[in-house]
Amino acid sequence: MPPDAVPGVLPDVALRRPFEIVDYDALMRAHPPPPEYFESAYLAPPDEIERRQLEALRKRAARAYTVPFFRRRWDAAGFHPDQLRSLDDLWRVPAYTVDDLRRSIEDHPPLGDYQGASIGEAASEPVRIFMSGATTGAPRPTLYTQWDREAGAILMARALYLQGVRPGDVVVNAWAYSTHNGAFAFDEALYRWLSCVVLTTGTGNVTSTRRQVELAHQYGATAILTTGDYMLRLADMAREMGLDPRTDFNIRALPNIGDREKLESTWGAQCFESYGFHEVQWVAVECPEHEGLHIFEDAFVVQVVDPETGERLPDGEQGALCVTEVYKTGSPQFRYNIMDLSFLYPREKCRCGSWLRRMGPFAGRADNMVKLRGVNVWPEAVGEIALEDARLEPDYFVRAVREGNRDDMVVHLVARRDRTDRETIAPRAEDRLKERLGVRIRVVLGEPGDLDAMTEIHTSPKPKRFRDERTS
Ligand SMILES: [Zn+2]
Repeated sequence: MPPDAVPGVLPDVALRRPFEIVDYDALMRAHPPPPEYFESAYLAPPDEIERRQLEALRKRAARAYTVPFFRRRWDAAGFHPDQLRSLDDLWRVPAYTVDDLRRSIEDHPPLGDYQGASIGEAASEPVRIFMSGATTGAPRPTLYTQWDREAGAILMARALYLQGVRPGDVVVNAWAYSTHNGAFAFDEALYRWLSCVVLTTGTGNVTSTRRQVELAHQYGATAILTTGDYMLRLADMAREMGLDPRTDFNIRALPNIGDREKLESTWGAQCFESYGFHEVQWVAVECPEHEGLHIFEDAFVVQVVDPETGERLPDGEQGALCVTEVYKTGSPQFRYNIMDLSFLYPREKCRCGSWLRRMGPFAGRADNMVKLRGVNVWPEAVGEIALEDARLEPDYFVRAVREGNRDDMVVHLVARRDRTDRETIAPRAEDRLKERLGVRIRVVLGEPGDLDAMTEIHTSPKPKRFRDERTS
């Protein structure tokens, strides 16, 4: 039976498969995968980096201008893509935050009007849809074209390579395969660009912690992709099973975010920080010098702005990251003020040989900022300073409260079981906070387990560290 006679199949649909739509030679020229990357674009001189960046930026701006969300905002601000003559001109483009995306979704459900791809044309331009975690409000969808998936996977493969994963390795992927991008992005990077063998265990709810440990052990996995906290739980389980995480496993890479020192000493491998987020995937990764994260500048322009005013901040000063991707073909992110805190290094040659610009590690959320007696305070900074005491567990929770007529902050800490001079812990932490932040913050000391309900450490992939109780 000829295809046009099959009921329900339209003869004139121009079906194009994902593998037919991408010019892979062009893709690898634009965004070299590892290991080639580290001998090419990674070592490019600064003028070449910026020339290519500007070229990509202009192309991307022209495309973004065809997407209603951007066109509306740019027209209102009197900006046209033709005005982009230098990288500096990017500062003329209006930025937006997650609130603008939320509004766009409310006005145009369910996708918003910020997508640069469509579900209706999926047969000829295949798309994948993923949604942001709902940690800060309703899930936000992003449509990815096949080019976006592949280029994004290359960036992630670079990060994994720098972190110690090698082609052909067996890697356990313990992220949740869900509507969220994470597990798939790792999976695609590992399988498609590093030819790794992925053990798709999913989280502890899908594959038990004991089974995860067994698999990592039996197959000699070189990395287990999950949170830093879960990685430490896996180590506890391994010991319970009579295995030594350092000597009985083949873990060589720790792409896990968490207590770096504890992870390194537990598993006997090195941690390299990285940074990325749902809508654009992997942005930057630390090099072996451990002095900042190199930004993949063939794919991104990263700026730092004042979290309150959106004004440009000088290099070295901490503020909110404003990210522009220049690698996609589908849904653009063009001056997205993601409200993650970090800072930029000036462009200079790193000891590793790369001129790629570096940013500091993720330092917390700008929208968690609390103004205390005129001082801007971030809960993550409070936690970091408060924890500088060997008698404390690496666990904290910060609450913003309203007491009397003023805003206040309380930080909850956990004393280790073997601590000495318990009564001096809280006053010393309060003094440290006052000295560094310039405001007094109350410290409440508890016992191991006391914070679990607040941090949701056993139920949430990422421990919660902050709650604003001023409005409730
Ligand atoms: Zn470097």
